[in-house]
Amino acid sequence: MRVKIFGSGGSEGVPVPFCSCHVCSSGEKRRRAGYVVEGGGLSFWLELSPDFRSQILEYSSFPDYFFISHAHYDHIAGISELRQSLLITPNSDILPKLLLPKHLVRFFRNISSFHSFLGEGFAYDFIHLKNSKRVEVIPLKENFALSLAKNVVVQSVNNIHCDALSTSLFIDIGNKRFLYLADAEKIDDGIYNLLEEKRADVVIAHTPFFSRKKGEHHLGIEDLRKLKARTILLSHISHKVGRTHGDLEALASSYSKRGKRFEVVYDGDEFLF
Ligand SMILES: [Zn+2]
Ligand SMILES: [Zn+2]
Repeated sequence: MRVKIFGSGGSEGVPVPFCSCHVCSSGEKRRRAGYVVEGGGLSFWLELSPDFRSQILEYSSFPDYFFISHAHYDHIAGISELRQSLLITPNSDILPKLLLPKHLVRFFRNISSFHSFLGEGFAYDFIHLKNSKRVEVIPLKENFALSLAKNVVVQSVNNIHCDALSTSLFIDIGNKRFLYLADAEKIDDGIYNLLEEKRADVVIAHTPFFSRKKGEHHLGIEDLRKLKARTILLSHISHKVGRTHGDLEALASSYSKRGKRFEVVYDGDEFLF
């Protein structure tokens, strides 16, 4: 199983335009969420961020599956870029599949009548993409193990995030287990139950401020201590974290112990499990 990081930044990315904070003036660059998981002959692209265009150009091949966790701008706005790529390219015979949690299927259904009048908005773009049959939408039923190929199974669990749902995704490839723990304010019992059955080899967890911040809707590293996982990759880092990558790496490794490793990822990182 191979995991590639194309976007390790929080919702506003790093640097934030016009910001002169310590992190933004450090020269670091983090795009919004974008990851690839490869294995078992398949590839999964996680999240469609506003930076999708530059990310997919860097990946330079087309994933078999896309997945979106929730309806926030930084996770979904890349739908418009995906539409541009698929519908505007005359020679394209690519037909990717979009794994869409049922709450997002409902979200698009509910806003479709209104947004169909607003051309070139991401909701319109999704509807256009779907109706043009250039992407196959696969509704993801929560807590249901969906077999996609021999030795490749996905399963989703919903967490609460900003009073709405945000979906995390398990990808089992052969005997390896990957968990994408997207934005969440609390880890759902469904995730603990699945990890009880089988430990994760690797987790990508969204911890924008590294530690839990009071009143914030995201997890911190403290919330991940009980997760049954060998390697936990921390991502979705906000400039508000106030620390540069080197400092964060050192801090993360101080939380690592035998059998569980924490690491802060950066755009361009690649891991083999
Ligand atoms: Zn986010
Ligand atoms: Zn800043």
